[in-house]
Amino acid sequence: MLEAVMVQPGQIEFREVPRPGVEKDHVLIEVKACGVCGSDLHVYHGKHPFTSYPVIQGHEFAGVVDAVGSDVEGIEPGRKVTVVPSLVCGRCYPCRHGRTNICDALKVMGFQAPGCHRNFFSVPADNVIPIPEELSFEAGAMVEPLAVGVHAVRRSGLKAGMKVLVLGAGPVGLLTMQAAKASGASEALIVDRVDFRLEVARKLGADHTINGDREAVAGAIRQAFGADGADLIFECVGLEATIETAVQVARKGTRIMVVGVVGGRPRISIGLLQDRELELVGTLMYMRPDFDQAIAWIAEGSVTPTELITARFPFTELPRAYREADEHPERNLKVMVLF
Ligand SMILES: [Zn+2]
Ligand SMILES: [Zn+2]
Repeated sequence: MLEAVMVQPGQIEFREVPRPGVEKDHVLIEVKACGVCGSDLHVYHGKHPFTSYPVIQGHEFAGVVDAVGSDVEGIEPGRKVTVVPSLVCGRCYPCRHGRTNICDALKVMGFQAPGCHRNFFSVPADNVIPIPEELSFEAGAMVEPLAVGVHAVRRSGLKAGMKVLVLGAGPVGLLTMQAAKASGASEALIVDRVDFRLEVARKLGADHTINGDREAVAGAIRQAFGADGADLIFECVGLEATIETAVQVARKGTRIMVVGVVGGRPRISIGLLQDRELELVGTLMYMRPDFDQAIAWIAEGSVTPTELITARFPFTELPRAYREADEHPERNLKVMVLF
């Protein structure tokens, strides 16, 4: 079988290797579809703080079970599955208190552990989640990015009828917006600088969209939601400017979810947090219930993540898939790799 190794930033090498065996508590998956993610591009550029080389990437994927280990129950060969890519210790304080996504020893497939850029991939059975047969492999590969939004919304305390502001219409922003609406948000206003992304946002159910380069966010909130403004804010960019915008436009006493991965040490107005009793709440990845919810919403059609797919490449053209995602943000949301 073939595997793709990123030997150093920007350099992917294909290697012919034997098909792996299956350990007793593992499941061997024939990989069928895998999305390219923003974090993959950070690794591609050598800018991911917690990944060393060589690394086999790929963490948002779906496939078919090829074989199961002798101790594995409830998963049979032939089942369509997706995989929770987090490997957790089960012993640290967060793990013992049901918060495995912030495990002290967290490793993620494709970053600190091998990922799915290979034809056959052996993973712990505990991480494998069957998906309905009628779901496509591409939809299965979109469960992981959607689960990020599901988790963010779950942590946000969103209540039915709330009006939400989403900063950033990349994959995470769009899927967080859809998750918020599926959870009962009455209206969503989404902000981005790329018109194409705002078009997709409207297709996905955004009630109001603005291009932040041309329009002020504060005014747009008043126009969309009236004087009371937004009930909840999801910051899905991770830049100083957008986090500061969130702090500036938040109604007193409201919560800002920091969903975007933040680089560096942004300077933001902490004084306003104190003075306006704002809450800045972090959210990281997901846990298994977030995957279950994401799968249920995709299956019932209330969330439609495959509409984010803008380009497809065969696995053998993986370097082209990275370049397309990296060099053309103006026309891409999710680049999908098919095996
Ligand atoms: Zn990802
Ligand atoms: Zn742990």
